[in-house]
Amino acid sequence: MKRRDLLKGSLLAGTLALLPKAQAQGAPQNRPGLGRRYRNLIVFVYDGFSWEDYAIAQAYARRRQGRTLALERLLARYPTGLVNTYSLTSYVTESSAAANAMSCGVKTVNGGLAIHVDGTPLKPFFAAAKEAGKAVGLVTTTTVTNATPAGFVVSNPDRNAEERIAEQYLEFGAEVYLGGGDCFFSPERRSDKKDLYAAFAQAGYAVVRTPQDLAQTNADKLLGVFSESHIPYEIDRRFQGLRVPSLKEMVQAALPRLASYRQGFALQVEAGRIDHANHLNDAGATLWDVLAADEALELLMAFVDQHPDTLLIVVSDHATGTGGLYGAGQSYLESSLGIDLLEGQKASFEHMLRLLGSSPDPAQVKEAYRALKGVGLEDGEAERVVRAIREKVYWPEGVRHGVQPANTLAWAMAQRNPERPDRPNIGFASGQHTASPVMLALYGQGLGFQNLGLLDNTQVFHLMGQALGIRYQNPAMSEEEALEILKARPQAQGLRHPEDTLA
Ligand SMILES: [Zn+2]
Repeated sequence: MKRRDLLKGSLLAGTLALLPKAQAQGAPQNRPGLGRRYRNLIVFVYDGFSWEDYAIAQAYARRRQGRTLALERLLARYPTGLVNTYSLTSYVTESSAAANAMSCGVKTVNGGLAIHVDGTPLKPFFAAAKEAGKAVGLVTTTTVTNATPAGFVVSNPDRNAEERIAEQYLEFGAEVYLGGGDCFFSPERRSDKKDLYAAFAQAGYAVVRTPQDLAQTNADKLLGVFSESHIPYEIDRRFQGLRVPSLKEMVQAALPRLASYRQGFALQVEAGRIDHANHLNDAGATLWDVLAADEALELLMAFVDQHPDTLLIVVSDHATGTGGLYGAGQSYLESSLGIDLLEGQKASFEHMLRLLGSSPDPAQVKEAYRALKGVGLEDGEAERVVRAIREKVYWPEGVRHGVQPANTLAWAMAQRNPERPDRPNIGFASGQHTASPVMLALYGQGLGFQNLGLLDNTQVFHLMGQALGIRYQNPAMSEEEALEILKARPQAQGLRHPEDTLA
């Protein structure tokens, strides 16, 4: 049964089983105060990043690279909290409802950007920051028009309307837009044949399309679009030689530009493909995108050190997957082998699928796993992969409602030897988002406290407001109101079925 039908069925039956009951009696309301204001605000969103991802990256950095993550140093020494992520009508959020909660300070239904399900637009925080004279920047590894950046600047009932969102970006006029998504800007690829690049250039933007152009431009206003859709995973950029900028390189280009504006700036940086790698159950791709985020984080922390009137908020919007490192061997002594074996991963499943094409044979599949994932598949496993790619027969049953064929590709290389891992002992139960609380951390001068505690994702809006001295309130909607509207509109736009998309 499709998610849509489930929702419809339970609504018609009059059950409130889907209500998150966010307002449970006695739930503590945690509203931390910053105690000071800042000129600049940077929000760094780790999309789809769980504590399991954190643990694996921390272990990999220590054991294989002999270093400590910048994120570990941040979490250990600066104000840190846990964020509840549920949306207005689901314990499991997707990225637009999570972005809305952070940028608008109110809960919404999954699927729209800075908008309630009845069409009431909300003012996203970066729009308010712009009105207050701040320069605005968006830097992401997804399409630049994707939900997490877009939900901070524009309102749209459909997060997937990225052609329209690209036009809304032109109308909004942020100083820096860097990410992927040529298909939403190029006249050859847009359905209406409009040339958004020309329109941006006319509006005074330097339009850059390659890492070299990005490094060389000295324009004040910048639109950088570096790939047809999302920017390739870090693992592919690093080991397969794909010519796109790293997240750090994009941040490096954005910071001096924004810092030159006298009234300060608001910048969102998103490590957006951690979520996608987790949807695909691709532990190697997740690891390298987390490590790439860490390099960008290090740069951002150095910027804050040099510009003490800047607050950096580091937050995850929700967890996806989630793939945990499982204990192995007597007294779990063999667990670390899984970390060592990750070193054999040299490409994402996305890249591997491109190389394999639509009709590979088992020998080609085995060779691809050996060369790109460092794993020797058995015959039966390779045949499952072939069937997944050629015939859309996915395996095992339990992960069919994930992102396919990638989840079958991940299953094929799952650890089978609990005593002594010969493959990374990282397991995924699903390719979906989860309800788990996620990380929040602050970095800046004059923060006289250590613990943010457990708080709601809407509190990120209040922290940003305190930081820049911008106070306003968006209208709230109750869970009951939202469900009434959805009930009257059973075919309401919602998430596409997860098999079709990464949300
Ligand atoms: Zn997602």
